[in-house]
Amino acid sequence: MPSYVDTAKCDGCKGGEKTACMYICPSDLMVLNVETMKAYNQEPDQCWECFSCVKICPQGAIGVRAYSDIVPLGGSVAPMMSSDSIMWTIEFRNKNILRFKFPIRTTAEGSINPKNDLKGKNLDDEKLTDEEVDNVTLKRPIAIVGK
Ligand code: SF4
Ligand code: SF4
Repeated sequence: MPSYVDTAKCDGCKGGEKTACMYICPSDLMVLNVETMKAYNQEPDQCWECFSCVKICPQGAIGVRAYSDIVPLGGSVAPMMSSDSIMWTIEFRNKNILRFKFPIRTTAEGSINPKNDLKGKNLDDEKLTDEEVDNVTLKRPIAIVGK
């Protein structure tokens, strides 16, 4: 259930050398048809629905046909970005539509250095990075089978 491009909205990133969706896809699936100047997912069965292209597309032209446990088959998911939030539009196959709005991170692009900011450099410590950052101790499993 891969990403798909709404060709009516896609403007080929205005003829840039590398489109935003091509830049962001971790699997190099997105390509631009230079004749039509429309992008498309060249290998849909390799798409793992990471939503990166969906979120980065400046035209909101990319949606995902999600798995049936997220959205019933025939449904779709599409975002609308604003400066401080993202609105997800979920369309079900019976045409019902639900929208969910979430705040987004407003950290300046490029301002995070994951290596410098990373806590928990002691690799022998079984704590998760989040536990150390937040000073929270998560519940331990009662038993670990096979250990
Ligand atoms: S990022 Fe969006 S507008 Fe740009 S080429 Fe891809 S689908 Fe088209
Ligand atoms: S959803 Fe992720 S894997 Fe699929 S085409 Fe978009 S960026 Fe690539």
